Amino acid sequence: VPGGVQEKLQRLRQEFVANVSHELKTPLSVIVACVETLQNGAIDDPNHRMRFLDRVGDQAHRLHSLILDLLSLARIESGEQHLTFQSIPLSEEIQACVERHQERMASKKQHLEITPSPENFDVWADYESLQEILDNLIDNAVKYTPLEGTIRIRWWKNEGKGLIEISDTGIGIPESELPRIFERFYRVDKARSREMGGTGLGLSIVKHLIQAMNGTILAQSEIGKGSTFTVVLPLEGTSPGPSNTL
Ligand code: ADP
Repeated sequence: VPGGVQEKLQRLRQEFVANVSHELKTPLSVIVACVETLQNGAIDDPNHRMRFLDRVGDQAHRLHSLILDLLSLARIESGEQHLTFQSIPLSEEIQACVERHQERMASKKQHLEITPSPENFDVWADYESLQEILDNLIDNAVKYTPLEGTIRIRWWKNEGKGLIEISDTGIGIPESELPRIFERFYRVDKARSREMGGTGLGLSIVKHLIQAMNGTILAQSEIGKGSTFTVVLPLEGTSPGPSNTL
């Protein structure tokens, strides 16, 4: 029934606006409270003023990542994001991305196990989108894996597709929540995600980008044991589809 669809869209839009407002409100309230505390005298207290300023800084950071993610999502969904498809050597891309995360893994004493493909190959993708996808998935693996856990990354080629698997020995995701993690703002544990600097938008951006590149993503997980995300992308030479804009 068209009316039903309209109503559903309307409800989704309202939910989204409510979510965004809430996500913006929380860090802003903390910033306002800290500034007021400083103005009311805490500024003269050398033992405490730095703590309030740090909190202002953290929350401003959070607002910044949230706005960047929202802009990114809006660009993708409006179809304004222009994708430039090209052959990208997958091994180089993954190695570069891993390097960007090495410091954070080291600070959590996490082990990294890499199993590169026995042969080098290219995927047919948009360079920046591929980076954003890999960064998000590796960032999540590091974020949701405790100290001294293991992050495994492997990639290979099979039946005309490139496969990338990013798995961790982290907290895992309950089976019932798995279908929802790609939704905007959906988090298994809101407080924990926020504490880690998460916005709840990363995986929905990942999913959109992968779909735009004619790929797929699969999530598997066992609570307390870890999670595995598998990305499948077309190989070099595959048609990008009727248009190379989203
Ligand atoms: P966030 O910014 O909260 O990390 P995402 O969209 O990237 O948002 O992920 C959505 C939710 O999926 C997270 O809040 C978390 O609950 C869950 N999640 C994602 N990746 C993992 C992982 N590797 N291990 C455990 N949970 C994960």
